[in-house]
Amino acid sequence: MLEHPSAIPSYLDPNHLGPWGTFLQQVDRVTPYLGPLSRWVETLKRPKRILIVDVPIALDDGTVTHFEGYRVHHNLSRGPGKGGVRFHQDVTLSEVMALAAWMSIKNAAVNVPYGGAKGGIRVDPRDLTLGELERMTRRYTSEINLLIGPQTDIPAPDVNTNEQIMAWMMDTYSMNQGKTATGVVTGKPISLGGSLGRHDATGHGVFVMSGEAALRLGIDIVGARVIVQGFGNVGGVAARLFADAGAKVIAVQDHTGTIFAGGGVDTRALQAHVDSTGGVAGFHGAEAIANDAFWGIETEFLIPAALEGQINEHNAQRIRAKVVVEGANGPTTTGADDILHDRGVLVIPDVIANAGGVTVSYFEWVQDFSSFFWSEEEINQRLDRIMREAFTVIWGVAEEHKISLRTAAFVVACTRILRAREVRGLYP
Ligand code: NAD
Repeated sequence: MLEHPSAIPSYLDPNHLGPWGTFLQQVDRVTPYLGPLSRWVETLKRPKRILIVDVPIALDDGTVTHFEGYRVHHNLSRGPGKGGVRFHQDVTLSEVMALAAWMSIKNAAVNVPYGGAKGGIRVDPRDLTLGELERMTRRYTSEINLLIGPQTDIPAPDVNTNEQIMAWMMDTYSMNQGKTATGVVTGKPISLGGSLGRHDATGHGVFVMSGEAALRLGIDIVGARVIVQGFGNVGGVAARLFADAGAKVIAVQDHTGTIFAGGGVDTRALQAHVDSTGGVAGFHGAEAIANDAFWGIETEFLIPAALEGQINEHNAQRIRAKVVVEGANGPTTTGADDILHDRGVLVIPDVIANAGGVTVSYFEWVQDFSSFFWSEEEINQRLDRIMREAFTVIWGVAEEHKISLRTAAFVVACTRILRAREVRGLYP
């Protein structure tokens, strides 16, 4: 019998898939490696549930405006949903669906007991006053109250959201519940049950994963060249850790420009410059070069730590790095991924390279439940162990099947998710 076209959910319409379409392609790639578990693969191709909410707020001038918000649960087979909240004018349902799905993969790839979730509001937060931002955050939190909770779905910061926004979300949820619930979000201020080490965790994880790759490729970190796109929370911390370990950070690009210093930049001086001026442009310890020249620089490590889709079919052929370590989410297009693979450039995929953040978020959540807080040293030791174990397992699968680390990470993650799906069985 022919399926009636209206029976196809809009997010499966092949003409309008967006980032969700990229995720579906990635799932198709791993399906041949899933053996008998592949009979459950359709479960990954459909988000478990999608909530679209209207977020009306009164602006400071008394007028009322409406924003569109989302919270998506992609898969909860392995535990409660976990994933950030993004405030950006370009947020779409397709993007939130894809980001939720990548959280399912990331959490399973590093084996933290969470499913995948993500949320967002279609808004440019720079257009709002602080009061308006708080009202929008609180109303959004109330609207997604149906889905979130310490045992069900735990949001965290993402693009344009920070620990203040997490504090407002935690307070709003707690007010609605009539009791303080610190474990409902992670990435909170330390004074509200946040974790030591969370700020540096993602950059720290990027550095640990780079070290694992260096060991296997015979690259010495001391003296290795590093180029970084994005000098924010992820790129800035990773660059500092590389430099502290004796590597040379020879080029940095951000939204203000690109700088180059063959002998390596002083990353702490650069951080001070970025903190005071807002970007790398104008830094005295390096020369300014054209943005496009960044991609052709010969280097051991290239760390994209800014935006999606930065390594694409246009620049992938020119990249002269031995290893690409994806600090950002989705920085490499599928086409560029294939070009890099064919050219022998090792890509450490985002789902493991930047998983340090969610791993320490997991530690924060555990600490909130036990109301017992660990030292930064304990956090980093546990973080290193989880990251190294994940890398070793995924490296082994890549070698066994002669596949890329990205496909291997998906094989490991999808196997864990679908095995949970299978042993739980289908309800009812
Ligand atoms: P951030 O806002 O702290 O820094 C972003 C950096 O990107 C800034 O240096 C900015 O100048 C630069 N940038 C922006 N537009 C650019 C452009 N057009 N060209 C070059 N550089 C540009 O953000 P962040 O927290 O460091 O996140 C960066 C990426 O890492 C994002 O993709 C995010 O989703 C991902 N990520 C972050 C975390 C985390 O814990 N912060 C965890 C996992 C993944």
